[in-house]
Amino acid sequence: MPRAYPSSMLHTIARTLRRYYLGGAFACYLLSFVLAFVMVFALPIGALGMVFLALMALIPVVICWTILCAVEHRLALSKLRRGKCPTCNCNAVTTWEGVAGVTFRCAGCRDCFSESGQDVAVEESAAG
Ligand SMILES: [Zn+2]
Repeated sequence: MPRAYPSSMLHTIARTLRRYYLGGAFACYLLSFVLAFVMVFALPIGALGMVFLALMALIPVVICWTILCAVEHRLALSKLRRGKCPTCNCNAVTTWEGVAGVTFRCAGCRDCFSESGQDVAVEESAAG
């Protein structure tokens, strides 16, 4: 049975979700703050309830963030182990050992990944 999405596309989707997830969560909290501020004058007990609801909502937000990061890193690592870049899907991934451990670097798009599959920012002079 053919797979619906290639692995690189799944990684791109997971990476995009991860990049905008925290901004989206912050926007939801900001919107809730505006709603709670308006509710202070109309229904004060509702505003108090929203404060507790927002605090309790932090738990699933953090759990979803952790799962999203784990899925993205696992997908990136599976591509990197096959010698492919998770971002551009080319076969020009090189490795080098630094103080932070093994780092993967794509010669095509110049993205760098740690040995756990996480995006890392490397200065051009340090990458060689
Ligand atoms: Zn690449």
